[in-house]
This record gives sequence, C-alpha cells and structure tokens, in this order.
Amino acid sequence: MKRNIRKKIVLSAAACMALSVSLSACKKSYESEFNEAQVSVEEGTLTDAEANTGAAEVQSVTSFGPTVPADHNETGASTGTGTNSGSQTAESQSGSAGSSAASKATATSQTAETVVQETKAPISFETRDETVYIMKDDVNIRKEPVDGEPLGKANTGDSFHRTGYSSSGWSRIEYNGATAYISSEFTTTDVVEKKTSEAVAFNTGWEFGGNSKINSGTATLYYASGSSKKNKTVCVNAGHGTKGGESVKTLCHPDGTPKVTGGSTAAGNTKATAVSSGTTMLDGTSEAYVNLKVAKALKSVLLERGYNVLMIRESEDVQLDNIARTVMANEKASCHIAIHYDSTTSNKGAFFMTVADGIKNMYPVSTIWTESDRLGASIINGLSGNGVKIFGDGTMQMDLTQTSYSKIPSIDLELGDRSSDYSDASVSVLAKGIADGVDIFYS
Ligand SMILES: [Zn+2]
Repeated sequence: MKRNIRKKIVLSAAACMALSVSLSACKKSYESEFNEAQVSVEEGTLTDAEANTGAAEVQSVTSFGPTVPADHNETGASTGTGTNSGSQTAESQSGSAGSSAASKATATSQTAETVVQETKAPISFETRDETVYIMKDDVNIRKEPVDGEPLGKANTGDSFHRTGYSSSGWSRIEYNGATAYISSEFTTTDVVEKKTSEAVAFNTGWEFGGNSKINSGTATLYYASGSSKKNKTVCVNAGHGTKGGESVKTLCHPDGTPKVTGGSTAAGNTKATAVSSGTTMLDGTSEAYVNLKVAKALKSVLLERGYNVLMIRESEDVQLDNIARTVMANEKASCHIAIHYDSTTSNKGAFFMTVADGIKNMYPVSTIWTESDRLGASIINGLSGNGVKIFGDGTMQMDLTQTSYSKIPSIDLELGDRSSDYSDASVSVLAKGIADGVDIFYS
C-alpha cells in the first residue's frame, strides 16, 4: 500500500513535468500541499495512516495534468541522471491501469486498497515472433513492464526479438538470453539504421565551461557497434591543433589559484596558454600531426573493442581550447586520454603526467586524482606489454590545465619525444598498447 500511494504522488509530479514546470518546483509544491500529512515525495516514507490521510489530495492532484507523453517517460539524457526520477515516475501513468483507477477512487481508507488491486492487474501480451528496431536513444529495458528494475538502455537502431505485445503500451522482448520489457512507443518493425556518430558542440553552461575562451569547434562522438559494447566512452584528445590558441590565456585552475609546478607555463602563474602549438619532430613534422595520427589509430582499436570514442580533433585545426576539451570530456566521456610527444630529443620513451601533489586537495582534482593516476599506470602497463619503451617509471608529476579541470579519470600521455619513430607500424603498436591499458583500467 505504501508503495502505491507513493506512486500516485510522484505520478502527479510527472504530470507537473508535462506542464513544463521543473521537477524541483513540482516537488516543492507537493511538499507544501502534503505538509500536514507529512508525505515524503522523495523517500516514500508514508505510514499507512499518513497515506490514507493524503489519499483525497492525491486524487485531486492526479486529475490536473494531461497524460505524460511516453517519450518523457522511458528515455533520458545520455549522460545525465538528473531526469531519472522523472522517468521513473511517469511510467506508472502510461503503462498501467493506474490513471483510470485513480479517477474512480474515492477519498476513503479503502481508496489505497482499490488502487493497489487495480494497479497490480497483470498485463496481458499477444504473442509475437518478430524483430523490432529502436527509434530513439536511451530507452529503458526493464525486468518487468511499467516499473520493473532497469536492466539496460537501448539506442537508435538496436534490434530485439519481440515475443509479446500489449495494448497497454509494452513489448516483451528477449534481452541477454532472458525476458525483458520495453515501451512499444519507441519500437518499429521497419529497419532503423544504427547511429554511428554525432557532433558534440560545446556548452558554456557545463561546469567550468565559462573558463574556456575558445570553444566554437565541435568534437565527434563515435558509437561502438557489434555485440561487445562496453558502455564506456573514451575521450581521445590529440594534443594541440587549435589555430590561434597560443595567443589566448585561460585560468590554470578553476578556482584561479596559481600553478604549483613548471611546464610550458612556469609555477606561480594563474593563467596559461589556452592551447600551445606543440613541438616539432626532428624531421620537421608537427607534433600536432603525429598526435592526430596516433589518435585516429587509437579510435579504431577502441571502437573495435566496444568502447565509444569522443574524438576531440580529427583535422589539423579544432577551435577548442584545453579547458573546452576537458569540460567536454567531463560531460560526454568516461575517461580522457590526451596524446602528446615531449620536446626532448633523446628518444626517452613513454610516460604520463601524474597529478601534482600541490593540487590534490583542490576541487575537482580531489575527487578523481587517484583514478587519474591509476588510468595512467594502466596505460603504461599496456604500452610496456606491447614492447613500447617507457621513460623511467613511466611518470612525471605535473600541474596541467587538463588534470586541474577533470572530473573523470584523465591523463596527459607523452608517447615519446621529437626523435620517436611514428611510422604506421609504430603507431599501430602504440594504439594497441593504449587500448590494452584502457582494458586493464576497466577490468
Ligand atoms: Zn604536446
């Protein structure tokens, strides 16, 4: 009984959403409306007595909103969890007999019992034996129809064997060898092509986005296909390659504090070059070009292994500074690997920049630096396992813009220096080594 009463309340929150009122505003209004009954919308801590007291008001609220469109229910933003409560709640309306039950119910202590019985009426399925395609991203796959435990997400072009169809709006499908359910709204028997990539534009509203000065460019998010999807997105950031980036300055740290180590900008500075131009290989080829060559090879290997890849740059120039690249990775990726070559000429081998001690207590570094260092160590292991020369223990401590703004595991990887070999054969070994390292990190 408790659970179903809670459903009715959050259901009205969903109806509120359909009226373009923000969920937090909704929540507030319900809190004040149900204040006397001490109903907790969020936690569902109703006692039976409280539930009964609130029943009349619950019914009156459910009648004010239109049915929430199904596409507000079963799908959500690909990167955020903020819409979760909305998507969880609205389902009880679209997929069950709940809304009609609610209108019939009266404000007595019997009300909740009536709702319980009608809500739990089993959904019947007509037998189907067909392939269905998904028409939208982020569609919930559930263990039971309506409000069952989410088992995963389906995306545009995914296909499933449908074994049952219900007039209540649900399809029974086979999923990972078991039975699961999905909203029929997003299914079709017509073939839908899988989405293979999409452009990602910068959003200055993202956290720290306001600190970026060059952000008119777009990155590209590539989706892994095949059966071995990892549900992880690796940001592959080919270092440098932003025309004009060396004449613009940005804050080294999100909080404006000074840099604690040297590097291309000396310790003590609060601002650094937005994107430097990089070094030049001994044969005159720009580091930026070689970084891109490695990045493209790495993208192919990662996609083959089931990782999605966010490619920051795929040409000689992208108008995204180091802060924009990092903020974009924070929002769209699971980890961030920047590819570089060092400016020495000793062919010293590969290493990564570990997080500097002096910024480990600074937000957001404090939340993620141990994982960033673990990502770096994993990749050095992967490279070493493929016979790539490693510089020292594979680490160098450095205070970088990239790590200072990262909220996900993030490293600057130096694959060698100006005298390194970047032939196709060498680059393919590097790509395999880095991908092995990503596998190690996620294993
Ligand atoms: Zn570099």
